Amino acid sequence: MVNINNIFLYLDNILDIIYPPKCMVCDSIIEINKPRYICDNCKNDIKFINKPTCNICGVHVDFDTFMCKSCKNKNFAFNRNISVFEYDNCAKRSYLSA
Ligand SMILES: [Zn+2]
Ligand SMILES: [Zn+2]
Repeated sequence: MVNINNIFLYLDNILDIIYPPKCMVCDSIIEINKPRYICDNCKNDIKFINKPTCNICGVHVDFDTFMCKSCKNKNFAFNRNISVFEYDNCAKRSYLSA
């Protein structure tokens, strides 16, 4: 009996040959059987945000405080932002390509 998942996997492999997956940050072609959305070089450039973080904007702060200097005395339209990684050149390029 033919497994439908195997058919989709087969079609994906054919599509990868015709339209090879490209990195969403640098647009380079990603090797087959690697994660499909980001190349290894760009993955290594991602700067993940570690705790402690500002409770308002979510940037990393050097010590455990409620909010960073740039959030003091400001009103935002949101209560809290939680970010996984820093908004740097790598993140900007990935957002612009989406
Ligand atoms: Zn890349
Ligand atoms: Zn902040």
